[in-house]
Amino acid sequence: MLRTPDKELRRQYVHAPLTARGAVRKPGIAVKTDRVTDLLRHYSRANGCHRPNPKHKSLARFHTYLPHKELRELADALVAWEMERTKSAKPVPVHMSRLKAARYALRKHEQHWITLGSKVSLMRCATCDMLDNMVKPSFISEYRRTGQEIAQDRLQKDLHVATALRQRAFFDSLKAKAMAEPETLWCITLDGMDQSKTQLPHYPRYNKITDGLERLKVHAEGGFCFGGPVPIMGLLNFSDLRKDSSLCVLTVERMLDIQWSQFMTLAEERQRVRDAKAQARAAAAIHDPAIAQEIRDEAAAAPSVHTGEMGT
Ligand SMILES: [Zn+2]
Repeated sequence: MLRTPDKELRRQYVHAPLTARGAVRKPGIAVKTDRVTDLLRHYSRANGCHRPNPKHKSLARFHTYLPHKELRELADALVAWEMERTKSAKPVPVHMSRLKAARYALRKHEQHWITLGSKVSLMRCATCDMLDNMVKPSFISEYRRTGQEIAQDRLQKDLHVATALRQRAFFDSLKAKAMAEPETLWCITLDGMDQSKTQLPHYPRYNKITDGLERLKVHAEGGFCFGGPVPIMGLLNFSDLRKDSSLCVLTVERMLDIQWSQFMTLAEERQRVRDAKAQARAAAAIHDPAIAQEIRDEAAAAPSVHTGEMGT
């Protein structure tokens, strides 16, 4: 006799097949596939890139972009990552079929999508593309690359991605540090925008009337200051400045100026609040002997703290 599937189980395993009696067939234990799924999940969360404004409509979907072009490359990266995390000297291989299954399972059951080698500029650079092109079959046959040369090119790509991920991790650690100790450390990052998008006058469509005319070139730069009092900054400069390293130095100087003046304003504000509080307390102490005693105690304790600091 067929029975209706358990609703809770149905919800958990939406696409699971039914048993002969109509119950939901629970997925069996698959140690090897589960290991790869686990690895892929954590690796992509730790090293993947996300779009700030995702294009897909489902909010539940979590989309990560990885810099690897092929699954084989990703498999090698997973093995290396696992060895680093578990401090083991023996590589345990990741099989292609399991990796494919893991990628599919993450997408199906956790709405976790993984895209390889996409054109998301944050994740890939021109060097990534160049190294990928060197191991394409057409390039290999045209330039008659030997097996050893191909292996070297693949190694170059692995090293390049590893370096990029290390740089990213370093930058993330500095950002976290700056936000934890904003009084001692700021972390500033800046980038300029393509000038053709910001020249004036600017029309939403291509306009042939202004095509032959000289237009005002406006160069927009954006910056983040982690830990600083002004976290997001936008700066403009015009065609009288050359876009070279001195502009970069000038921009950083200008950013520091803005941050510092805001920092000083805030410091003065804080000092004013502290003074006002002290005055209010002093006024209250005239009528309340307990507060007066507190103030005397604090005044007595303060010098000892200072000598303690001097001593250390
Ligand atoms: Zn790259």
